[in-house]
Amino acid sequence: MASELDLTTSVTFHFMLAQSTHPSLARSSNNTPNLGLIRQALNLPMQGTCSTCGKSHQFQLPLSDLNHSTDKSKWYVEADPSIAPSLEEIDSLGGDQKYFHFYGINIKSRTFGKTLQETTADTDTSSHVHTTSMKTEIAAVLKQLQTRLNKLFQGSQAWLFPSTNSGIDVNFFNGKTGFPVTTIKKVSWIVVAWQRLFDSLHDTHRIAEKPLFEESLDVHLDAWLHQIKKAPGLRSIAELLKGVKAAKILDIQQVDSNGQITFSQQASTFDSSAVLAWIDVLTKIILRAHYAEGTFFAWQFLGDGEYRAPTYSAWQMLKDLQVKKSTIKYYQSRKKDAVSQLDDDLAAAMESSFRGDLLGPLALHVANAGLTTSNYGRIEDTISHRFRNGGYGRYNKAYIEAVEAASAPTAHSKKSSWVLV
Ligand SMILES: [Zn+2]
Repeated sequence: MASELDLTTSVTFHFMLAQSTHPSLARSSNNTPNLGLIRQALNLPMQGTCSTCGKSHQFQLPLSDLNHSTDKSKWYVEADPSIAPSLEEIDSLGGDQKYFHFYGINIKSRTFGKTLQETTADTDTSSHVHTTSMKTEIAAVLKQLQTRLNKLFQGSQAWLFPSTNSGIDVNFFNGKTGFPVTTIKKVSWIVVAWQRLFDSLHDTHRIAEKPLFEESLDVHLDAWLHQIKKAPGLRSIAELLKGVKAAKILDIQQVDSNGQITFSQQASTFDSSAVLAWIDVLTKIILRAHYAEGTFFAWQFLGDGEYRAPTYSAWQMLKDLQVKKSTIKYYQSRKKDAVSQLDDDLAAAMESSFRGDLLGPLALHVANAGLTTSNYGRIEDTISHRFRNGGYGRYNKAYIEAVEAASAPTAHSKKSSWVLV
C-alpha cells in the first residue's frame, strides 16, 4: 500500500506589468516596478463564499508585507526579471514604446493544505467565524487584479496583463518528506503518455514547439515510456524529462528529500475557472499516480493499456482521472465562455485605443492574441502538426491515421465555432 500523502498546493501567477513613464522617455528614467500598486489592490477587502456557512462575506487576503517572503501562510508579490514581454507586445506600442518599461511580476499564493485548504478565518459581527478556501482566494485575487489593474482608463499609467510569455505554475508538495520515487515516476509517465491529450486543454502558445524527447524523431513513444518505467532513480528520470522541463510542462525538483512537483503549462490568465479546473486535473494526476496500485489505472501501465487506443480522447482521460464534474463542464464549455470574455476584452481595448490611450494598442494586441491562441481549430491543427512530426515521440503511420480518423467528426464543428480577427 502506498503511504498516505500529505499533499499541499501553491500557485504562482506570472503576469507582465507595462508601466508608462510618459512624458519622460523610459530610458532616461530609472524606474522600478510599482509593486505597491499590486499589493494595494490585494490589500483591499475581498468578497468570497464562506466554506463553512456558504454565505458571501468580506475577507482580508493574508498578504506578506515584504516583496519576498518565505512565510508559506501568506501570499506575496515580487518582480520576476526572468519574464520578458514578447516582441509583438512591445511592437504593438509602435513609436510610443519609448515611454514604457515592462516588468515580469509573480503573485505567489500561500500554500494550501489538505484540510480543504481552509486556514484563514475572519470574524464578523456574528459569532460565526468565516473561512476561505483555495478556490475562494484564487477567484477573489484574480478578479481583484483584473478589475483594478487590467481595466484601462484615460491616463492609465500601468497595465497588468497576461503576456504570451508568461504562464501559471502549480506546485505540489508532500509534507516535509517529498514524493516517493515511484510516485514521481508515474506522474512523469502519465504526463508523457498523455501529453497530446493534455495539450488539447491548453492554448496554442502553451503547446511545446520542440519535440519533448531530444531525439524524439527516432524514439518511439513506447520506448520512451519504457525507459521512464525502468529508471532506477530521480536523476535518470530528470534526464529523461529534460525536454518536458524545457517546454515548461513538468518540473520534478527533488532536492534532498524536500521536493516539489511543478506544472507550468497553464497560460497566464485572470480566469479563475480555467486555473481551478487545471489544478483539479493536476491534483488527480498526483493522487492517481500515488495510489495507483491494484486499480484500473495500474493496468494502464501494462503494454496494452487502453490509453493507446486511437479513439482514446481527452474526455475519456479526464473521466479516468476522476476529475470533478465542474472540471469536465469547464473544458466542455470553455469555448463559449472564453468567447464572451474575449469579446469584452476586445471591446474594452478598442474603446481605449479609440480614446487615444497610450496603452490602448497593447491592450488591442493582447486581446487579439487571446482570440488566436485559444481558437480551438488552431489548437487542433497545432497538435496534429506536432503529432505527425514526432513531437510526442515516434508513432507508426497507421496509428497516426487512426487517431486523426477518430477525431475527424469534430473537424466539421470547428470550422463554424470561431470568427477570426
Ligand atoms: Zn461563514
